Amino acid sequence: HIDHLIVTKDQRPFLVFLNPNSGSGKASKLMLYQVVSMWKLANVKFKIIETNFANHAKEVSQKIEVGNYRGIIVISGDGLVFEVLNGLLSRPDWKDAIKVPIGQIAAGSANGLSSSIAFLSNENFMYDKIENFATLMSFMYAKSNPVPMDLVSIQLQNQTFVNSFLNVEWAMVADVDFESEQFRFLGGFRFVLGAIRRLMNLRKYRGRISFLPADEMKNYTPKDSNLKVLRNTGNYSSEELEEKRLVNPELNIEYRFLKPLDEKVPNDWLTIEDSFVMFAAVNLPLMGIDFIISPETKLNDGSIMLTFVRDGAPKLRILELFNDAAKGKFLENKYIEFVKVKAFRLEPLDGHECGNIMIDGERVPYGPIQGEVLPQFARALQ
Ligand code: ADP
Ligand code: MG
Repeated sequence: HIDHLIVTKDQRPFLVFLNPNSGSGKASKLMLYQVVSMWKLANVKFKIIETNFANHAKEVSQKIEVGNYRGIIVISGDGLVFEVLNGLLSRPDWKDAIKVPIGQIAAGSANGLSSSIAFLSNENFMYDKIENFATLMSFMYAKSNPVPMDLVSIQLQNQTFVNSFLNVEWAMVADVDFESEQFRFLGGFRFVLGAIRRLMNLRKYRGRISFLPADEMKNYTPKDSNLKVLRNTGNYSSEELEEKRLVNPELNIEYRFLKPLDEKVPNDWLTIEDSFVMFAAVNLPLMGIDFIISPETKLNDGSIMLTFVRDGAPKLRILELFNDAAKGKFLENKYIEFVKVKAFRLEPLDGHECGNIMIDGERVPYGPIQGEVLPQFARALQ
């Protein structure tokens, strides 16, 4: 009996959302054989809700009494984590509701939250078997405590706002993510197939990326000194800057750094206009179990890591990126540029139908978007 090993006094149950259709369809078996057996040993209480349709978990998250639960654990991919967080944040009492800590047991095709939590806890997790990963994570959650986690608030066109915990993808990563949806039954392997398919027919995207560098990156210059970064001096005087802060009507908060999407970016932002093959803005260190995109990123570092590749990188080097990512060397690749930021704006300049933008793995309308980090807005279980 390992009761005495468990260092928590919180006797409330976990609320578990189980998506039977996520990834390669293993969620129910993982729950039954890995999670339940571990939690029985550890004397962890839980209540399971099987999701029957898209947005089911969001609807339930809008109504539950959060104080009744030690945390919410999703047995699915990142899509269901996104639903739960956005459900909690759409409540009138979101400030309290979003305090309920969130966890994930990997059962989807991309599992950024659980992979990141395991990585940040220095767990020597198994790449080979999703069953072993589920056992490890159920043990971790049994002894876990809530820890603060940043979110990223994103404005789309038409005054639409979403809250992201993981990433914003554009160009190649987004294309692979979206186009490989039909291969979800392959689990994470769908991304490998998708990447190879996309590389054979590599698309380039014109765009403008603007950002407010984090304090330690104020003097950002591109890796290749021939590349241009535009300074936005002269856009706003400091008085104008104060007046034009963007308001999020859903959360009823004023952004610290964002101005309305149809206005220029402030003076202290930098802009890069070019052709790109890849762009990802990430809030967690891993996008999936074998994709360590930003190894230094923490749950609550108050920043977002922008990573991008410009047109001109040889195809073989781009393929190599996926291997680099598996080994935690993504940012060391010669063709990757990266910068830690507090806020960013992405403006595709290619017209309207030609690309994908994905937020936490969900496709959003193609067009300009911007985001700002919301430090420690949510909580995770670690
Ligand atoms: P995956 O990594 O396999 O895509 P996700 O957790 O991202 O796993 O789930 C994909 C989508 O499935 C989510 O956006 C969610 O809304 C939806 N979903 C949840 N439950 C069901 C269900 N019972 N049937 C179909 N879709 C569902
Ligand atoms: Mg962060």
